[in-house]
Amino acid sequence: MIQTVKQGRISHTQLFLGNEGVGALPLAVAYSQFINCANPTDDDSCGVCPSCVKIQKLVHPDLHFTVPTVAIEKKKLTNDFISEWRSAFIENPYIGELQWLLKLDDEGKKQGNITAEECRDIFKKVGLKSFEAKYKTVIIWMAEYLSKEGNILLKLLEEPPVGTLLILVAQDSDKVLPTILSRTQTLKIPRLKDEEITQELIQKFQLNKQDAETISRVSEGNLSLAINLVNTGRSDYFELFLSWMRLCFNSRKDIVNLTAWVESCVKSGREFLKSFIAYSEHMLRALFIYRYGNKQLLRLSEQEADFVNKFSPFIHANNLPDLTNAFNETAFHIERNADLKITFLNLSLYIGTQLKKSE
Ligand SMILES: [Zn+2]
Repeated sequence: MIQTVKQGRISHTQLFLGNEGVGALPLAVAYSQFINCANPTDDDSCGVCPSCVKIQKLVHPDLHFTVPTVAIEKKKLTNDFISEWRSAFIENPYIGELQWLLKLDDEGKKQGNITAEECRDIFKKVGLKSFEAKYKTVIIWMAEYLSKEGNILLKLLEEPPVGTLLILVAQDSDKVLPTILSRTQTLKIPRLKDEEITQELIQKFQLNKQDAETISRVSEGNLSLAINLVNTGRSDYFELFLSWMRLCFNSRKDIVNLTAWVESCVKSGREFLKSFIAYSEHMLRALFIYRYGNKQLLRLSEQEADFVNKFSPFIHANNLPDLTNAFNETAFHIERNADLKITFLNLSLYIGTQLKKSE
């Protein structure tokens, strides 16, 4: 990317494709900053010129955003929510789509969308005279939300006005309109390496090496998830998971202790439960890989590896798909303010039944 900028071969319509938390969105912002920097170094923007300073704060008049929003009273377009967007991005540039939408609608009842009106607003943004930038940039985040209405953008994507850069950011190319895909140059953003996340957690959050390594393994290259895990302030995920699985296994005989476990777990709050479910999904994947996959790919601590070795006979092709769905659904309900105690107890009982299934 740096080379194409230096050689003046900038493609005017690009799609940055990367899973949640790998940094496709902050990369799009950094790219615009580099292109417009007054004094770039060999491999980065200077970070201090007026253009850099404004882009970092997302207040540059030539940097525009289109993101999914929900309609709240008279507010509905990205520009109506621009101050919320700026503070959300500055707080966590690795923000996920659901985290963002919950900032607008904390009950999570409204569906996020990029509407036809929003698409037409992109034409206005593009049509504005450039104030000061070399390249006016429009970043369209979560291009998956451009449904049929997105087709009104096709001509624009094919041939944006001179000096305009359109950067689409998406996670899943299968969900982006093929007509849009064929008109953009796709850049795949790889997942972050475990070591990169570990370093970030040690430097920014002063974690010790061991905790940082555990969290980076669990988060599977998703820095957004890693930060959530850090913010819960706990590192006893493994111990908790172990006791939970034992209680689920014996749920029919010992519902009292299971209920007590659920009650104490729920007290730690929604954010913690979200992270704990993510950790549990990580363990579930490990159990399956241990059984059917390439054991070399496992990234586990010694304790975890020992547990996986003993527990793997109970996880197999006959219950894993249903268990995975149940965890996904639970994560979804936790985000959307379901009754935590009932949700968790239901899941525990379900796990208990599934563990009894034979292969
Ligand atoms: Zn600069």
